Amino acid sequence: MGIFHCPMGAAFYDDEGCIDCGMCSAVTEQEMVEASKKIRAYLRSHARSEGSIKKVAVCGKGGVGKSTIIVLIANVLRGKGYGVLVLDTDESNPGLSRLFGFDKEPKPLITLLSRFSSGEHNADSEWLQREKIAIPDIPAEYILNRDGLKFLMVGKIQDPFQGCACSMADMTRVLMEKLLVSDKEIVLVDMEAGIESFGRGVERDVDTVLVIVEPSFESMVLAEKIGYMADGMGIVRVKAILNKVPSEKVKQRMTEELNKRNIKSVGTVYFDPQLNEAGFEGTALGDCRATGDIQTIITLLLGEAKQLS
Ligand code: SF4
Repeated sequence: MGIFHCPMGAAFYDDEGCIDCGMCSAVTEQEMVEASKKIRAYLRSHARSEGSIKKVAVCGKGGVGKSTIIVLIANVLRGKGYGVLVLDTDESNPGLSRLFGFDKEPKPLITLLSRFSSGEHNADSEWLQREKIAIPDIPAEYILNRDGLKFLMVGKIQDPFQGCACSMADMTRVLMEKLLVSDKEIVLVDMEAGIESFGRGVERDVDTVLVIVEPSFESMVLAEKIGYMADGMGIVRVKAILNKVPSEKVKQRMTEELNKRNIKSVGTVYFDPQLNEAGFEGTALGDCRATGDIQTIITLLLGEAKQLS
C-alpha cells in the first residue's frame, strides 16, 4: 500500500489511526466511493470548532495571486505583533521567498528524505519523527528568518523524471499535524494550485482555509470544490478572498456567485498595478494599496475568531 493513499496517515504511522475505511483496499469505483463516504463522515464528526486561527492553508486556482496575498497577510500579521511561519508547499511555483525580500531559498525540507519514493528518512530528520514539533526544533538551514518572519520550503520539482510530488505532500501533512504554534504565532501555508492537495488530505490539520478567487468562472467553480473538500475534512472555517477586483460591480457579481456556491467572502483586494509589477520583477512586496484591503480582512478574521474562542 502506498503511504500517501491512506487519508488517516495510518500507513505512515504504523497503522495507528486506521479507521477501517477500506480506501487502501478498494478495487472498484463503488468501493472507493463508499470508503470516501466513511472518511468524510469520520472527519466531519471530528470537526474542530472555528476557535482561534493557528494554521491557515491559502488555496486557489493557478494564477489567482495566492503568493502575493500570502506576503501581504504575513506583513499585516507581523505588523499586529504576530510571529509568522510561512510554509511554501507549492512544488512548481518559484519565487515566494523573493517576494518576501529574501535573496535565497532555504534548504528544501524534502532533502531530509533519503529516497523520495520510499519515504525513508536520513539521520538529520530525527526531529520530524517526534510526536510534536516546536519551531525551534527545525534545523537552522531549513529556515530563513527575519523580523518575526520564518520561511520554510518543502521543495520544488527541478528536473525531468524527478518523480511525483507525493513525498512533498506527505511532508506537508506531517508538519501541519505536528507543528506546535503558540498564541501569538500563525502558520501560513502556500498550497499548490488546484485541489490535488485536498485529494491527498494535506490540509487535514489546518483550522482555516482561505480560497483566493479572481473574476473568472473557473476560479468560482474551484472555490466551490475546495469548500466541499474542506468540509469533508472537517474544516469549519473556509473563507474566500476576492482578488484583482476592478470595480464594485464585479465585486457584487463575484459575491453573488460565491453565495450561490455556499462560500462566504471575508473581503476584497482591489486590482493594484503595484502587485503586478512586483510579481513580474520578483521583488519584495512592500506596503501598497492592497495592504489596506488586507488589513481590513485580517482584522475581520481575527475578530471573528476571537469571538468564537
Ligand atoms: S483502511 Fe483506511 S484508514 Fe485504514 S489504512 Fe486503509 S486507507 Fe488508511
